[in-house]
Amino acid sequence: MPIPPCPPGQCPQCWTHAYDKSIHRRLAPREDCPQCVNHMVTKCGGFYRK
Ligand SMILES: [Zn+2]
Ligand SMILES: [Zn+2]
Repeated sequence: MPIPPCPPGQCPQCWTHAYDKSIHRRLAPREDCPQCVNHMVTKCGGFYRK
């Protein structure tokens, strides 16, 4: 299934991870995705900072 293109203003990483489940398939069951956790904690590394 193709990933819809990341709309402008969306964090590309969170977008990709939300749609491309194969990225998370590499993780152990119940293992947190470090990049997703990082973006959760840092609010996408300031991506949405105004
Ligand atoms: Zn992720
Ligand atoms: Zn993000």
